[in-house]
Amino acid sequence: MTITFADLTTMRVGGPVGRLLVPESMSQLVDALHESAGSDDPLLVMGGGSNLVVGDIGWHGTVIKVGSSELDVDGERVTAAAGVDWDHVVRVSLDQGLAGLEALSGIPGAAGGTPVQNVGAFGTVTSDVLESLLVFDRTTGDLERWPADRCGFGSHRQSVFKRSDRWVVVEVTFRLRRSEQSRAIEYADLANRLGIEVGGTAAPADVRQAVLELRRSRGMVLDPRDHDTWSVGSFFVNPVLADVPERAAECPRYFDVKGTKLPAAWLIERSGFPRGYGREWGNGTVSLSTRHALSVTNRGGATASDVMKFAAHIRDGVEARFGIRLGPECDLVNCSF
Ligand SMILES: Cc1cc2nc3c(=O)[nH]c(=O)nc-3n(C[C@H](O)[C@H](O)[C@H](O)COP(=O)(O)OP(=O)(O)OC[C@H]3O[C@@H](n4cnc5c(N)ncnc54)[C@H](O)[C@@H]3O)c2cc1C
Repeated sequence: MTITFADLTTMRVGGPVGRLLVPESMSQLVDALHESAGSDDPLLVMGGGSNLVVGDIGWHGTVIKVGSSELDVDGERVTAAAGVDWDHVVRVSLDQGLAGLEALSGIPGAAGGTPVQNVGAFGTVTSDVLESLLVFDRTTGDLERWPADRCGFGSHRQSVFKRSDRWVVVEVTFRLRRSEQSRAIEYADLANRLGIEVGGTAAPADVRQAVLELRRSRGMVLDPRDHDTWSVGSFFVNPVLADVPERAAECPRYFDVKGTKLPAAWLIERSGFPRGYGREWGNGTVSLSTRHALSVTNRGGATASDVMKFAAHIRDGVEARFGIRLGPECDLVNCSF
């Protein structure tokens, strides 16, 4: 049976996989990477496929779907192989009495994917708690231990790994806190759900519960029966601009090290694309999530080409209204819009 990216990604689109390898330990992963370094076969590395859209032509080379499963807790340090399911890392940390990852509960994907776009939610980003990584350099074949500050974090959802195929994250180590109190909760809707003031703290397990409830209400926890979750989460990245066009003067603004960050969901909704938009557009297989305007979703039967056409339609509408061109937050391979 031919395996396709529709089988391997949460957007559930994309063509056939040339050769699929699923290394189940760190040493198997490193062996597979060494083997591929000496071959002409193009290589694509992926984890949970939750931030990746591959075109309908698929990938004719080798795909390594990282499946390594080593996980270790040592004092306040948690070390996970790149293939460990991310939410499992969060759960184990909390079970061990360690606070720090609770706000990142329920995010799909594997541990190795978290530094790639400095995954974040509800005011916590990976770089807040990441201490070091084991990284394979595909140009030299070396396995290197990096401190987190070498990852190029800073601007929203950026790192040296994003849109680069030079490095493969093999292992991540987080420095957490043995504590019965979470980090300060700066998000009003999360604080509300917890019944605390913004800036207050709560038991980490309660924060996890509240985060999962909020995420479910927004279609942000994977559920095969729920088409709002057949997505990559946020499809478009929040734009960071040196100058905000006059037409977007009313848009909320946030600080970013590279300029002013604007919420793409706000821009999309005010360009005439409400939540759920799209069922009457095109062939109806793709729409915005009915609970989150930033999320492009597969309503069943979509192709990667359908997703790209729809994404271009939204991008063009926002550009016509505000003069701001949205780009993808997810990684697009053999497809574009
Ligand atoms: C319903 C839903 C909700 C989401 N919510 C959030 C959220 O709240 N916050 C957030 O930040 N993201 C969110 N996402 C996006 C996504 O879950 C994260 O970006 C996740 O970390 C991606 O991990 P992955 O293993 O699935 O990566 P993949 O999708 O498999 O890969 C994504 C990219 O990372 C690269 N990559 C993967 N693993 C490695 C590795 N080990 N070394 C080097 N490169 C690698 C791939 O080549 C690809 O370019 C959401 C997605 C979905 C579907």
